[in-house]
Amino acid sequence: MKVTILGSGSAYGCPMIFNNWRKLNPNHPKNIRNRASIYMEIEGKKFVVDCGPEFRLQINQNNITGLNAVLITHSHYDHVAGVPELSRASSILNHSIEVWASDETQSELKLEYPFLFNGEEYEGNGLRWRVCPNVGEFEACGVKFQTFQVPHHRWHCSAFRHQDFAYVTDWEEIPAEGLPILQGVKTLLIECNNGLYPEKNGHSDLENVKKIAEIIKPKRVILTHLSARVDYEETLAALPKNFELAYDGMCFEV
Ligand SMILES: [Zn+2]
Ligand SMILES: [Zn+2]
Repeated sequence: MKVTILGSGSAYGCPMIFNNWRKLNPNHPKNIRNRASIYMEIEGKKFVVDCGPEFRLQINQNNITGLNAVLITHSHYDHVAGVPELSRASSILNHSIEVWASDETQSELKLEYPFLFNGEEYEGNGLRWRVCPNVGEFEACGVKFQTFQVPHHRWHCSAFRHQDFAYVTDWEEIPAEGLPILQGVKTLLIECNNGLYPEKNGHSDLENVKKIAEIIKPKRVILTHLSARVDYEETLAALPKNFELAYDGMCFEV
Protein backbone atom coordinates (compact mmCIF):
# COMPACT_ATOMS: atom_id res chain seq x y z
CA MET A 1 0.00 0.00 0.00
CA LYS A 2 0.99 3.58 -0.60
CA VAL A 3 0.26 6.39 1.86
CA THR A 4 0.38 10.14 1.23
CA ILE A 5 0.09 12.66 4.04
CA LEU A 6 -2.46 15.20 2.82
CA GLY A 7 -2.29 17.17 6.05
CA SER A 8 -0.06 16.93 9.12
CA GLY A 9 -1.47 19.88 11.07
CA SER A 10 -3.65 20.21 14.15
CA ALA A 11 -7.16 21.69 14.21
CA TYR A 12 -5.73 25.21 13.83
CA GLY A 13 -3.53 24.40 10.84
CA CYS A 14 0.01 25.80 10.57
CA PRO A 15 0.41 28.72 10.41
CA MET A 16 -2.81 29.44 12.25
CA ILE A 17 -5.26 31.98 10.87
CA PHE A 18 -3.93 35.58 10.62
CA ASN A 19 -0.50 34.13 9.80
CA ASN A 20 0.14 33.32 13.43
CA TRP A 21 3.20 30.98 13.51
CA ARG A 22 3.38 30.70 17.32
CA LYS A 23 6.56 28.61 17.94
CA LEU A 24 7.12 27.67 14.29
CA ASN A 25 10.00 28.84 12.14
CA PRO A 26 8.12 30.53 9.28
CA ASN A 27 11.02 29.88 6.89
CA HIS A 28 10.85 26.09 7.14
CA PRO A 29 8.55 24.63 4.45
CA LYS A 30 7.70 21.57 6.59
CA ASN A 31 6.12 23.90 9.16
CA ILE A 32 3.30 24.64 6.69
CA ARG A 33 0.59 22.12 7.51
CA ASN A 34 -2.95 21.54 6.35
CA ARG A 35 -5.44 19.84 8.63
CA ALA A 36 -4.83 16.12 9.30
CA SER A 37 -5.79 13.73 6.51
CA ILE A 38 -4.21 10.87 4.57
CA TYR A 39 -4.63 9.25 1.17
CA MET A 40 -4.07 5.51 0.74
CA GLU A 41 -3.85 3.32 -2.35
CA ILE A 42 -4.56 -0.29 -1.50
CA GLU A 43 -5.14 -3.09 -4.01
CA GLY A 44 -5.97 -0.53 -6.70
CA LYS A 45 -8.60 1.19 -4.51
CA LYS A 46 -8.29 4.82 -3.40
CA PHE A 47 -9.08 5.87 0.17
CA VAL A 48 -8.95 9.08 2.14
CA VAL A 49 -9.08 9.23 5.92
CA ASP A 50 -10.88 12.45 6.97
CA CYS A 51 -11.91 15.43 4.86
CA GLY A 52 -11.00 18.67 6.60
CA PRO A 53 -11.48 22.27 5.47
CA GLU A 54 -8.64 22.01 2.90
CA PHE A 55 -9.91 18.79 1.33
CA ARG A 56 -10.29 20.04 -2.27
CA LEU A 57 -6.91 21.79 -2.19
CA GLN A 58 -5.18 18.75 -0.68
CA ILE A 59 -6.60 16.46 -3.38
CA ASN A 60 -5.46 18.84 -6.12
CA GLN A 61 -2.03 19.58 -4.64
CA ASN A 62 -1.28 15.85 -4.50
CA ASN A 63 -2.59 15.10 -8.01
CA ILE A 64 -5.13 12.59 -6.75
CA THR A 65 -7.48 11.63 -9.56
CA GLY A 66 -9.97 9.24 -7.97
CA LEU A 67 -11.61 8.19 -4.75
CA ASN A 68 -13.50 5.02 -3.80
CA ALA A 69 -14.07 5.40 -0.07
CA VAL A 70 -13.58 7.78 2.82
CA LEU A 71 -13.00 6.71 6.42
CA ILE A 72 -14.01 9.31 8.98
CA THR A 73 -12.30 9.26 12.39
CA HIS A 74 -14.69 11.63 14.21
CA SER A 75 -16.89 14.65 13.67
CA HIS A 76 -14.60 17.52 14.68
CA TYR A 77 -14.44 20.38 12.18
CA ASP A 78 -10.78 19.80 11.29
CA HIS A 79 -11.67 16.25 10.17
CA VAL A 80 -15.06 16.74 8.49
CA ALA A 81 -15.38 20.31 7.17
CA GLY A 82 -14.77 18.97 3.65
CA VAL A 83 -17.34 16.16 3.81
CA PRO A 84 -19.99 18.11 1.81
CA GLU A 85 -17.38 18.41 -0.98
CA LEU A 86 -17.65 14.63 -1.42
CA SER A 87 -21.01 14.97 -3.15
CA ARG A 88 -19.35 17.09 -5.83
CA ALA A 89 -16.38 14.72 -5.96
CA SER A 90 -18.79 11.86 -6.60
CA SER A 91 -20.62 13.74 -9.33
CA ILE A 92 -17.30 14.56 -11.08
CA LEU A 93 -16.13 10.94 -10.79
CA ASN A 94 -19.54 9.76 -11.95
CA HIS A 95 -19.69 7.04 -9.32
CA SER A 96 -20.68 6.80 -5.68
CA ILE A 97 -18.23 7.10 -2.78
CA GLU A 98 -18.49 4.95 0.34
CA VAL A 99 -18.26 6.98 3.54
CA TRP A 100 -17.45 4.98 6.66
CA ALA A 101 -18.07 6.46 10.11
CA SER A 102 -19.13 5.08 13.49
CA ASP A 103 -22.73 5.40 14.68
CA GLU A 104 -21.72 8.17 17.05
CA THR A 105 -19.87 10.10 14.34
CA GLN A 106 -22.77 9.69 11.90
CA SER A 107 -25.21 11.05 14.53
CA GLU A 108 -23.02 14.14 14.87
CA LEU A 109 -22.67 14.49 11.09
CA LYS A 110 -26.47 14.33 10.69
CA LEU A 111 -26.70 17.39 12.93
CA GLU A 112 -23.88 19.18 11.08
CA TYR A 113 -24.94 18.26 7.52
CA PRO A 114 -28.56 16.99 7.45
CA PHE A 115 -28.68 17.62 3.68
CA LEU A 116 -26.06 14.90 3.12
CA PHE A 117 -28.41 12.27 4.53
CA ASN A 118 -31.54 13.24 2.60
CA GLY A 119 -30.91 11.04 -0.43
CA GLU A 120 -32.25 12.45 -3.65
CA GLU A 121 -33.01 15.92 -2.30
CA TYR A 122 -29.34 16.79 -2.75
CA GLU A 123 -26.33 15.72 -4.76
CA GLY A 124 -25.45 13.86 -1.55
CA ASN A 125 -27.11 10.82 -3.07
CA GLY A 126 -23.64 9.99 -4.48
CA LEU A 127 -22.53 9.22 -0.93
CA ARG A 128 -23.01 5.70 0.38
CA TRP A 129 -23.00 5.91 4.16
CA ARG A 130 -21.62 2.84 5.93
CA VAL A 131 -21.51 2.22 9.67
CA CYS A 132 -17.99 1.58 10.90
CA PRO A 133 -17.98 -0.81 13.90
CA ASN A 134 -16.72 0.62 17.20
CA VAL A 135 -14.24 -2.22 17.40
CA GLY A 136 -13.45 -5.08 15.04
CA GLU A 137 -13.16 -5.58 11.29
CA PHE A 138 -14.91 -4.16 8.28
CA GLU A 139 -14.45 -4.26 4.52
CA ALA A 140 -14.55 -1.05 2.48
CA CYS A 141 -14.64 -1.54 -1.31
CA GLY A 142 -13.33 -5.06 -0.77
CA VAL A 143 -10.35 -3.94 1.37
CA LYS A 144 -10.15 -5.23 4.96
CA PHE A 145 -9.58 -2.83 7.86
CA GLN A 146 -9.50 -3.25 11.60
CA THR A 147 -10.75 -0.47 13.85
CA PHE A 148 -11.14 0.56 17.47
CA GLN A 149 -12.08 3.78 19.20
CA VAL A 150 -10.08 6.08 21.43
CA PRO A 151 -11.79 8.44 23.91
CA HIS A 152 -11.55 12.05 22.72
CA HIS A 153 -13.17 14.80 24.83
CA ARG A 154 -16.78 13.62 25.22
CA TRP A 155 -16.66 11.72 21.92
CA HIS A 156 -14.72 8.84 20.42
CA CYS A 157 -12.32 8.79 17.54
CA SER A 158 -11.94 5.73 15.29
CA ALA A 159 -8.44 4.39 14.64
CA PHE A 160 -7.76 2.25 11.57
CA ARG A 161 -5.35 -0.53 10.68
CA HIS A 162 -4.68 -2.19 7.32
CA GLN A 163 -2.09 -4.98 7.41
CA ASP A 164 1.19 -3.48 8.73
CA PHE A 165 -0.04 0.12 8.88
CA ALA A 166 -2.17 1.92 11.46
CA TYR A 167 -3.40 5.50 11.79
CA VAL A 168 -4.37 6.79 15.24
CA THR A 169 -5.38 10.41 15.61
CA ASP A 170 -6.96 12.65 18.27
CA TRP A 171 -6.13 10.44 21.24
CA GLU A 172 -4.92 10.76 24.82
CA GLU A 173 -4.88 7.12 25.78
CA ILE A 174 -5.25 3.83 23.95
CA PRO A 175 -7.96 1.66 25.53
CA ALA A 176 -7.21 -2.02 26.32
CA GLU A 177 -9.14 -3.31 23.29
CA GLY A 178 -6.99 -1.18 20.98
CA LEU A 179 -3.64 -2.69 21.92
CA PRO A 180 -4.17 -6.15 20.36
CA ILE A 181 -5.31 -4.43 17.15
CA LEU A 182 -2.11 -2.37 17.04
CA GLN A 183 0.19 -5.30 17.87
CA GLY A 184 2.46 -6.18 14.96
CA VAL A 185 1.99 -2.87 13.15
CA LYS A 186 5.24 -1.95 11.40
CA THR A 187 4.40 1.67 10.50
CA LEU A 188 2.43 3.64 13.07
CA LEU A 189 1.13 7.05 12.01
CA ILE A 190 0.01 8.69 15.22
CA GLU A 191 -1.18 12.05 16.49
CA CYS A 192 1.36 13.98 18.56
CA ASN A 193 -0.46 17.31 18.68
CA ASN A 194 1.50 18.73 21.62
CA GLY A 195 4.98 17.49 20.67
CA LEU A 196 7.48 18.38 23.39
CA TYR A 197 4.95 20.41 25.39
CA PRO A 198 2.47 18.17 27.25
CA GLU A 199 -0.92 19.68 27.91
CA LYS A 200 -4.29 18.29 29.04
CA ASN A 201 -6.30 19.09 25.92
CA GLY A 202 -7.62 15.76 24.67
CA HIS A 203 -4.48 15.25 22.58
CA SER A 204 -1.13 13.57 22.81
CA ASP A 205 2.54 14.45 23.20
CA LEU A 206 5.89 12.78 22.56
CA GLU A 207 6.02 11.05 25.97
CA ASN A 208 2.57 9.49 25.42
CA VAL A 209 3.56 8.24 21.99
CA LYS A 210 6.83 6.77 23.32
CA LYS A 211 4.89 4.75 25.91
CA ILE A 212 2.63 3.26 23.23
CA ALA A 213 5.60 2.62 20.92
CA GLU A 214 7.34 0.69 23.72
CA ILE A 215 4.36 -1.67 23.89
CA ILE A 216 3.71 -2.06 20.15
CA LYS A 217 7.33 -1.79 18.97
CA PRO A 218 6.66 -0.59 15.41
CA LYS A 219 9.68 -0.24 13.11
CA ARG A 220 8.63 3.24 12.13
CA VAL A 221 6.66 5.85 14.11
CA ILE A 222 5.45 8.90 12.19
CA LEU A 223 4.03 11.80 14.21
CA THR A 224 1.19 13.87 12.77
CA HIS A 225 -1.68 16.27 13.68
CA LEU A 226 1.04 18.68 14.85
CA SER A 227 0.18 22.01 16.45
CA ALA A 228 1.87 25.37 15.94
CA ARG A 229 4.00 24.62 19.02
CA VAL A 230 5.65 21.72 17.18
CA ASP A 231 8.46 23.26 15.18
CA TYR A 232 9.80 20.75 12.66
CA GLU A 233 13.53 21.10 13.39
CA GLU A 234 13.23 21.57 17.15
CA THR A 235 11.04 18.48 17.51
CA LEU A 236 13.01 16.32 15.06
CA ALA A 237 16.18 16.88 17.12
CA ALA A 238 14.45 15.38 20.20
CA LEU A 239 13.02 12.25 18.57
CA PRO A 240 14.13 8.65 19.17
CA LYS A 241 15.84 6.92 16.24
CA ASN A 242 12.80 5.22 14.67
CA PHE A 243 10.56 8.31 15.02
CA GLU A 244 9.84 10.81 12.22
CA LEU A 245 7.67 13.87 11.77
CA ALA A 246 5.01 13.84 9.10
CA TYR A 247 4.87 16.71 6.65
CA ASP A 248 2.36 17.61 3.97
CA GLY A 249 3.02 15.70 0.75
CA MET A 250 5.12 12.99 2.48
CA CYS A 251 4.68 9.61 0.71
CA PHE A 252 5.67 6.18 1.89
CA GLU A 253 5.09 2.53 1.04
CA VAL A 254 4.14 0.03 3.70
ZN1 LIG B 1 -8.18 16.86 15.13
ZN1 LIG C 1 -10.76 16.01 17.38
